[in-house]
Parts: sequence; structure tokens; C-alpha cells
Amino acid sequence: MPAWEAYIRRVEPYVPGEQPKRRDIVKLNTNENPYPPSPLAEEALARLSADTMRLYPDPTASELVDAIAAAHGVKPSQVFPGVGSDDVIAMAFLTFFNSKKPILFPDISYSFYSVWAELYRIPYECPALDAEFRIVPEDYMRESGGIIFPNPNAPTSLYMPLAEVERIVAANPDVIVMVDEAYVDFVDAEGGAGSAPAGPAPVSALSLLDRYENLLVIRTFSKSRSMAGMRIGYAVGSESLIRALNDVKYSFNSYTLNRDAIAAGAAAMSDGQYFLDTRRKILATRARACGEFRALGFDFPEPSGNFLFVRHKERHAAEIFAALKERGIYVRYFAKPRIDEYLRVTVGTDGQMDTLFTALREILG
Ligand SMILES: *Cc1c(COP(=O)(O)O)cnc(C)c1O
Repeated sequence: MPAWEAYIRRVEPYVPGEQPKRRDIVKLNTNENPYPPSPLAEEALARLSADTMRLYPDPTASELVDAIAAAHGVKPSQVFPGVGSDDVIAMAFLTFFNSKKPILFPDISYSFYSVWAELYRIPYECPALDAEFRIVPEDYMRESGGIIFPNPNAPTSLYMPLAEVERIVAANPDVIVMVDEAYVDFVDAEGGAGSAPAGPAPVSALSLLDRYENLLVIRTFSKSRSMAGMRIGYAVGSESLIRALNDVKYSFNSYTLNRDAIAAGAAAMSDGQYFLDTRRKILATRARACGEFRALGFDFPEPSGNFLFVRHKERHAAEIFAALKERGIYVRYFAKPRIDEYLRVTVGTDGQMDTLFTALREILG
């Protein structure tokens, strides 16, 4: 064994869902949006001339940052953009999780968190979700090096009411609390328990930012904006947190977002109506899917993302997963403790879901 072998940073990498080359796959395995992005995004790309490829992109991505800030009613100095939220979260771990105390995230959650913690050698502990897969806020009210959780959680699709999120943030003024809101746009505010008489109550932790300087909210264009292939994510937080993130970014790589992502992302963010229309379609299909899954003998936690986390009462998930794959229908299966009886199924178009349910009826006999 050569001596340098001992000095290689060994990590067990994150394994993303399969991206099949075949175009005829019904792809319900990585929570992509089945609808195209806003037509304004395509128009913005068409306006870019190939000649500008010579030039570096704007290192501040200000066109995109301004569009995001305007959409959320915050200052541009409160927005940190990155190459997908994976890049933003990795940068945030590096910037904020430098305590010797363990950071906390749920035992069942986005499996990239432990990979980054290992990569950066950040100690971590994973409080268990309760028997109904709920995050227990009290588990996050102790000394730690920081906290991160998705809301809605992945892969459960369960949403934690904003009041609970606030309790966690308020109980931890000495550390940074990151709320990964990859799926928050799919929370059904009208139908949800939190609706106030005067209209839907806020569901996003963005509404807490005015009161908590230790809060970082992380968002992505990959799911609700149909732009997973463009790789755009961002964090919103207090100006001091965003400044710290930028200092780390500029010590790493100045040109993270390319020209296409900046232009298309800014255009998509400005198209509020298209976003609402797409969201409404997904929520309608999700409601229909709930009924179909139930009729087929599945149970599942109440979904608030663009996906369901389903378990059949009799047949094993690995078996259903394989039978669906044989028929060209991809869903996600995690062979992990506590969740190996479940399948994570992305909400596709109505047509894709029809294909899925026809196949499931065959498989389940
Ligand atoms: C999809 C997802 C991300 C990453 O999204 P990108 O912006 O595509 O990198 C982050 N967190 C959770 C919980 C996700 O499901």
C-alpha cells in the first residue's frame, strides 16, 4: 500500500436516485416536478447569446438574488444563492457548524446531512422521530453545535406546524438552526390545521426571520420550480449569516452559478402565476393519489411534499419496488432500519399516476 493512501479523505458518498437513460420510464423516484418550468425561463435562455460564454458569470448572481428577494419580500443582502440547495447546505455546514458539540438532525431525514457531517468531520447525533414519524421538538432543546431538519421532512412528507419550528429556533439562540424547505411550497395552507380565519396562516419559516437572527431557511428550484437540471438553491437569513456564507463561498469558488442558471432562475422566480398553477395541479393529483393508495391497501403519513411515503398492509416494499421497476415505473426504496417497509413515490402527472395505479392493481392482484 503506498504511503499516500493513508492521507486520502475517505467518505461514504450520498447515493442519489437513479437517472435512467431511457426516456419511456415513468420516473417517480427523485421528486422532480413533472411539469416544465415557467415559459419565461425558456425565453430568458433563448435571449442569451453564445458569445457571452467567453465571459465569467456575475459572481454575485445579482439578477437572480434580486428576483428571489423581491418574491419573498426580503433584502437582497439576506439571500445566498448556490448550485442547488445541496451546495448551499454544504456551504452552510462548513460556515456554521464548527462547534465541538454534536449537531442534531432527525434519524429519518435527508440522508445527505450525515454525509456532509462526515466529510467535514462535524460530530452529529440523530434524535429518533416518534412512532408516527414526527419530529419531537423537545429533542432539540439541549446543548448542541447546531440543528438542521427538513420541513416537510423527507422521505416522510410530514409537515411540522410552524409554531413547533419556532419553539426549536427560540430554544437555541446560541447556535444556527437551518430549516430545509425543499418541499414547503407543497404544504396545503388552506386545508392545513393552521389556517386562520383571516386567510391561510404562514407555513414557511421565512415568516420567522424578522425575529430570529440564528435562523437560516434553505430553498431550492429543483422541486416546486421544475428546475432540478439547472441546479439552483438558496438560503435566506439575517444579513450577518449571509455575509458569513459569502465569505466562505468566495474562499472556495467565486463563480458558482452559471449564466444560464442566473437568467432562467430569475425569470422563473418572477412568474408567480405559473408557479401557483403548477402547484395547484400537483396538490390535486396528490389528493387523488391518497385515495387510490388507500383503496389499494396502503397507509401513509399525511403528505405535505410532492411525494407520498407509502406502506402496503401485506406486501413487502422491496417486492413492489422490483415489480414496478420491471414495468418501467421507478419509485424510491430505502433499505434502512424503520423505513424498509415503505416506498417514496413522487407525485407525477395524472397520466403517470394512472399508469402507476394500473400497474399496482396488477401487482397486488
Ligand atoms: C431535493 C432536496 C434537496 C436538494 O435539492 P437541490 O436543490 O436539487 O440540491 C435538499 N433537501 C431536501 C430535503 C431535498 O429533498
